[in-house]
Amino acid sequence: MRTLPPVDDSTSPERIVCHCLLIETDADGLVLVETGIGLGDVEHPRESLGADFLAFAEPVLDAGETAVRQVARLGFSPADVRHIAVTHLHRDHAGGLPDFPHARVHLHEAEYRAATDPGDEYHAYGVEHFSEPQRAHGPRWAPARPDGSWFGLPAARLEGLPDDILLIPLTGHTPGHSGVAVRTADRWLLHAGDAYFYQGEIEADPPVSHPLLDLVQENAQADRDLRLETLHRLRALRREHGGEVEIFSAHDPWEFRRQPHL
Ligand SMILES: [Zn+2]
Repeated sequence: MRTLPPVDDSTSPERIVCHCLLIETDADGLVLVETGIGLGDVEHPRESLGADFLAFAEPVLDAGETAVRQVARLGFSPADVRHIAVTHLHRDHAGGLPDFPHARVHLHEAEYRAATDPGDEYHAYGVEHFSEPQRAHGPRWAPARPDGSWFGLPAARLEGLPDDILLIPLTGHTPGHSGVAVRTADRWLLHAGDAYFYQGEIEADPPVSHPLLDLVQENAQADRDLRLETLHRLRALRREHGGEVEIFSAHDPWEFRRQPHL
């Protein structure tokens, strides 16, 4: 998306990313973490993403960058993606849902309620940020309720998946915003979604935020106090378990470049 100036001289300007993960499991097909912007968004950006989002975020709108096309380039069929886990239902995270209509869509139950229950206190917020074309196909929702723990944080198992993939509530940005934890051979990955927007928020001491990205998170948040509490928890997780858990976020391009898997 839009090009960001760096916070200091140690880095160069970079375009905001929208970071998804694709996981190949032994028995449950492919699991997609986050869906990014989808084909429908690329084809009908004004209807699907909205004029304000387009003007501010300046998404590239290249069909080749959508998750479904990237999955195909890896030699898989979109139907191989049997599960999707989303951190939250903002348009730049959920736009790819219609590209995988058969997949079970795992999300925090509060996020599900905000999007689907007119009686929920966050319903107006939920449908404002998750556009009608992105949900018109009727996603196969699988709301998850936290009932366990993971490194001292609450955790939810995902129906039909082993406990190597968990939903970790990191609320505040949205009512049910959550990270997705994935166990790899030697450590855990935590895709923290939009729980923070710039790595300095959880790594620097004292915390450093990116002025432009900070504006975005202040404008988009459902509950500021909860968001700041989540940030505090992520800082503690990194401090205490940084060797066992690698934490990254959805949009920070400098953090993305640093990923050893790329
Ligand atoms: Zn986002």
